[in-house]
Amino acid sequence: MAKRIALLGSTGSIGTQTLDVIAHDPERYDVVGLSAGTNVALLLEQVKQFRPGVVSVATKELADELRPLLPAGTRVLYGDEGAAEVAAGTGADMVVTAVMGSRGLKPALAAIEAGITIGLANKETLISAGHLVTAAAKRRGVCLLPIDSEHSAIFQCLNGESRDDVARLTITASGGSFRDRTREQLAGVTVAEALRHPNWSMGAKITIDSATMVNKGLEVIEAHWLFDMPYEQIDVLLHPESIIHSMVEFVDNSVIAQLGNPDMRVPIQYALTYPQRFPTPTKRLDLAAAGRLHFAPMDMVRFPCLRLAFECGKGGGTLPTVYSAANEVAVARFLGGEIEFLAIEAIIETALERHERLADPDLEQIAYADNWARELAASLYTA
Ligand code: NDP
Ligand code: MG
Repeated sequence: MAKRIALLGSTGSIGTQTLDVIAHDPERYDVVGLSAGTNVALLLEQVKQFRPGVVSVATKELADELRPLLPAGTRVLYGDEGAAEVAAGTGADMVVTAVMGSRGLKPALAAIEAGITIGLANKETLISAGHLVTAAAKRRGVCLLPIDSEHSAIFQCLNGESRDDVARLTITASGGSFRDRTREQLAGVTVAEALRHPNWSMGAKITIDSATMVNKGLEVIEAHWLFDMPYEQIDVLLHPESIIHSMVEFVDNSVIAQLGNPDMRVPIQYALTYPQRFPTPTKRLDLAAAGRLHFAPMDMVRFPCLRLAFECGKGGGTLPTVYSAANEVAVARFLGGEIEFLAIEAIIETALERHERLADPDLEQIAYADNWARELAASLYTA
């Protein structure tokens, strides 16, 4: 029987690649719901191709604009409630969460409460409220299948292994757009330069997060929650080619790594078809052509956002929420030309310094901390 898929963030980088995977093997899937933000034109094309019963967009105005253009019988919803309904109310077997930012938290929780398997691209969900999301998933017996390439790699390396035998996770990092620059050379960099990622083509926010190394910081926290691994046993390794997607070291010093060309359609499909594997429309890895792979230790002085992420992760409570929310606003302001690149990390650091951490926050306290961090991040470095 076809697997019923609801896709949140269908118009984004992961969303469109998920639909590409589905279109490659259409018999295997049934797209039951799509949610997007404001890209109504692309959503309309997607609806015509995949025929979901329910769609959702960011606002009521956009929903009203879209409704008359859709096939009869398609339900059109909007806002966070619309996204949650697409996630939990469409009878999906799996929800792929590919929205950007902590806005992904509520629909993910709704899907978990409904007992639906999650294909997790939206890492901010686990950063904002990792303890609540993982506890809810455990309580409901819901599988969180990673789509993030590093976590998919680790997940694949752990297949059939005993958790007690795992000594260490090593997450690889490409280094992002500015990996060859010193901190001094970061002053005055442009948005266009920051958006030029050497290996991956991704959404704007995560591309900036790669340049600041916030993305790797978020991934460390994501790995902590997904694999229940103490921060002391998570390493980050600079690997400019992005061919080894991550690795697991075992107690006998054996290391298992997962390799492939940098193409998100591989981890996306692995989550969609787990535990089975099928051909993908991607290029085979040719290591002889690659020739050499390079590695270097991560420099926590050059990339202070990675150091901060480890500190937030270890400190726990609302610290990761604030780290992620302050970053979201700072990145949006950088992309909008309002602040310098280096102000992103300064804003995150200031937010963390001023925040009064709560140890074991509930959803309401997380929403409060998230909002507090956003307001602060919006108020700093204003002319
Ligand atoms: P994009 O920016 O490309 O896409 C974001 C999606 O979220 C779009 O569909 C966008 O809709 C939607 N969206 C934005 N605002 C709203 C809103 N208010 N309501 C509903 N939907 C909204 O992001 P990516 O695909 O790059 O990333 C998505 C997630 O996946 C992130 O959490 C990222 O960290 C993670 N990820 C991404 C990877 C990648 O290769 N891109 C790799 C690993 C993880 P619209 O465009 O219509 O406004
Ligand atoms: Mg990643």
